[in-house]
Amino acid sequence: MGAGVAGLRAAVELARHGDVLVVTKESLGESNTHYAQGGIAVAMEGDEDVSLHLEDTVSAGDGIVYRAAAEALVSEGPLRVAELIEWGARFDREGDSDAGELLRTREGAHSLARILHSSGDATGAEISRSLVAFARVHKRIRFAEWTMVTGMVTEGGRVVAVDMTPVGPGGSGSVPQRVSARAVLIAAGGAGQVYSDTTNPAVATGDGIALAAGSGAELADMEFYQFHPTALSLPGVPRFLLSEALRGEGAYLRNDKGERFMERYHPLLELAPRDVVARAIAREGLGERGSARPVYLDLRHIRGLDLHQRFPGISAFLKTLDLDLARDLIPVRPAAHYLMGGIKTDLAGRASLGGLYAAGEVACTGVHGANRLASNSLLEGLVFGARAAQSMLTDGLSLLSVDGLDSTPETLSTDGQEQVEKLIAELQAAMWVCAGLLRDEATLRKGLAAQAECEAALEGIARQGKVSRRLAEAQALSRVAHAILQSALARTESRGAHFRNDFPKRDDRNFQLHSVLTRDPRVQFEQW
Ligand SMILES: Cc1cc2nc3c(=O)[nH]c(=O)nc-3n(C[C@H](O)[C@H](O)[C@H](O)COP(=O)(O)OP(=O)(O)OC[C@H]3O[C@@H](n4cnc5c(N)ncnc54)[C@H](O)[C@@H]3O)c2cc1C
Repeated sequence: MGAGVAGLRAAVELARHGDVLVVTKESLGESNTHYAQGGIAVAMEGDEDVSLHLEDTVSAGDGIVYRAAAEALVSEGPLRVAELIEWGARFDREGDSDAGELLRTREGAHSLARILHSSGDATGAEISRSLVAFARVHKRIRFAEWTMVTGMVTEGGRVVAVDMTPVGPGGSGSVPQRVSARAVLIAAGGAGQVYSDTTNPAVATGDGIALAAGSGAELADMEFYQFHPTALSLPGVPRFLLSEALRGEGAYLRNDKGERFMERYHPLLELAPRDVVARAIAREGLGERGSARPVYLDLRHIRGLDLHQRFPGISAFLKTLDLDLARDLIPVRPAAHYLMGGIKTDLAGRASLGGLYAAGEVACTGVHGANRLASNSLLEGLVFGARAAQSMLTDGLSLLSVDGLDSTPETLSTDGQEQVEKLIAELQAAMWVCAGLLRDEATLRKGLAAQAECEAALEGIARQGKVSRRLAEAQALSRVAHAILQSALARTESRGAHFRNDFPKRDDRNFQLHSVLTRDPRVQFEQW
């Protein structure tokens, strides 16, 4: 389930041994992976570089990175990236020739320049393009585009099949289908759409997390949502991401008085960990309900680097708004970006339910702890996508026959659709205010009340027995919102991306642990 970096990497591995169906809600290119700009972090300089990458990852994660997961990430990363290059991915090189040295940049909280990039700021699109092209030549991989996984079928504590519904112009077949599988990998990406302000595309509605939890799989670390500090902040314009690589190349942050304020917050200034920078921007510029005083990215002082050539995608987008990286102050604000939590898996991608596997942003191995190190997630997709596929193969589960679907429900009416859109917008706004960058018990309880209201209204609509993509997405968002709110309420400390105004300190004695959600309504805390 999913055709981002994790799903595609897994598919390639699986296709060496059997038939693979890759299901994706929109076209193959529409994923968080496609929009990744800055690059992919990888330690290419041998053992010392690998151990520094490990330490950077562990330190960004603020005390709860699962070290074994981070070790797997950084030590297997170089092989996975080399493989990707062999399969056709093109990263920027010196002299623009295939023989030139790979160019590397630095991003926040990395101790050295180890981020590979492609066409300047189009790294994700290149990774997606090369993996899709490579996967397409495998006869055993089939793609179902514009097809949404809407249900999981379990039998005897094991996932044995999924329900799929065509949702768009290129849908395969016109009726919902039940497909049995020896093993199901959820690689459905993040859930940024649970917040009103997000860098994530429309497909990122947390469907995978909701389906797994609905089938009884455990979730972990759901309180940790990374807010990217620098999304474009202009009224009526989407929260377009202004990559951390801009600060890696020397961009300053300035408040409305023109001050470089990061010196008041962290010795690493603009390259401090993301949560620190995001909260600093919030404090300098944002009121509770939105941008009160503007905060800017400033690259006007940068010399000796052609910003338009280095960041062609960002430059072109800004140009449509009559903004120029080299000439103008660019208004920014934080936006929901990456979910550190997700479906709890072991290091081989196994979820807590038989037959179910998860990899990539949807999964939680503990590799990012409380805060992801910049550019570690594309690498995570490669490393853990491959690992999950390997365990799907070695677990050797059998194919069970299941009954097919016997009816095709009607589509929700236009009125119903409008109601669903309204409920989604209200939930997103409530999540931004109540469970955003700064939270406390009162806001989180308010968020839970809003989510309960949304849930009840959605149940009312669902009782009509009609279906729609947006209704299914709304239900997924509501489930994800509940998991975030519940986990954030239980963690009465501040750590990484989770900041509680009422518990502003890190509390290692009680919380150097991972939160886990099971069917039990109480959040449990575990040591990994
Ligand atoms: C703007 C932006 C910039 C970023 N920049 C970087 C960066 O520079 N470096 C970095 O390392 N990371 C970056 N990230 C994060 C990174 O891109 C993602 O974490 C990573 O690509 C996730 O990959 P994935 O394979 O887990 O999921 P995704 O790439 O999000 O893929 C999810 C797939 O699941 C499918 N799907 C979802 N629900 C369903 C359903 N119900 N049925 C069927 N299919 C479904 C989607 O259609 C999609 O194909 C960025 C993210 C964004 C949004």
